[in-house]
Amino acid sequence: MSAPIALTGAAEVLRLPEEDLERLPQSRAEELRLEPGDLVMHGGRIAGFAADGSCRRIDASGCAVVPGFVDCHTHLPFGGWRADEYARKVAGVPYAEIARSGGGIRSSARALAALSDGEILAQARALAAEMLHHGTTTFEGKSGYGLSVAGELRALELAGRLLDEVPQTGTVTALLAHAVPEGHDTASWMDEVEGMLDAVRARTRADALDIFVESVAFSNDDLLRMGRLAAAHGLALRAHVEQLSSHGSVPVAVTAGARSVDHLSCLPPEDIGVLVGAECAAVLLPGAEFLGGERTPPARELAGSGAVCVLATDLNPGTSPIVSMPLIAGLAVRRYGWSIKETLLAMTLNAAWVLGLSGERGALCVGRRADVLLLDGPVAHIPYRFGHNPVAAVFIAGEPVWVREDHAWRFEGPAA
Ligand SMILES: [Zn+2]
Repeated sequence: MSAPIALTGAAEVLRLPEEDLERLPQSRAEELRLEPGDLVMHGGRIAGFAADGSCRRIDASGCAVVPGFVDCHTHLPFGGWRADEYARKVAGVPYAEIARSGGGIRSSARALAALSDGEILAQARALAAEMLHHGTTTFEGKSGYGLSVAGELRALELAGRLLDEVPQTGTVTALLAHAVPEGHDTASWMDEVEGMLDAVRARTRADALDIFVESVAFSNDDLLRMGRLAAAHGLALRAHVEQLSSHGSVPVAVTAGARSVDHLSCLPPEDIGVLVGAECAAVLLPGAEFLGGERTPPARELAGSGAVCVLATDLNPGTSPIVSMPLIAGLAVRRYGWSIKETLLAMTLNAAWVLGLSGERGALCVGRRADVLLLDGPVAHIPYRFGHNPVAAVFIAGEPVWVREDHAWRFEGPAA
């Protein structure tokens, strides 16, 4: 085994209040520790917090050391973009009209179908590289633009291949109820979903099901059915809910056994309490809110209530073509009134919990996987220098996988 690597003399090292936590409500975020010090990585794991003579030393002076960001809600892989649609949206054209004229999810479905596997993977790999440079070391990808049994299975297989080909690791979610495919109503499509789950299990690495509950998509009854299907097949359940309008879907999702409820722009205040102490996280997507002109969810109240809150990019070609978790952090601090500790918790430990990976990553604890970021300044600069990429270097499983040019000197010191 090669020598331990030590990041030495950092201005800030982000630590949990207790080592073995797998999630932490934002109401306890101020207990996170942010102190000067070292971080030692060895054998792919975090090995300690004091460099000794056996370590290869990397000067971390002036830097913050934080866990790699976990982006637990993306729609990778997808084909093409929808920039024209964005231009129409900001000019005031309603989504229903864009969808009627062939835009929206169906437009991305046509693009996916028209491209070869190689073309789709090339686009997705380039996006994963951008995500890496912005500090994302773990991400989730979804299907949802297949809109047929064969198309969804293909998308899930491509999501798995993407994770095989990039430095990051992650999980795959089967978003099998995204839009209602042509020739189906919601009930007949849910029958198709039920029929494809054995193949999803056998042929893909999907470990969760997902559904879009909205007037233009699926209902709370479909959500309950998806929950039963997830339980029967040993899969987690995620749900896009309360995004464009309120359907009272959060209590239904918790009843259905959802691991997360995502979006929540229209979450009614009376449903916040349902998430306190629940085995279900609130995944907030401020990039989609901002670019879509959506309402702001009651995020301050969620964070103060004891709910487990999470941030993600929602990277997708329609509503959130955003790769940068630091940008998402900046939006969250401004829109939600969150502290930087609440925000970082939502991008690391709690995001890993949504993916079922928080025993292994999402925090700088001895024994966890050494997915670690070196930032070019204090964590307070992440939201403050809005639009700046603070990531100076990225370590995955203890190995430097990306170093920004102006910080390369830190890696050029004498070997121990
Ligand atoms: Zn989404």
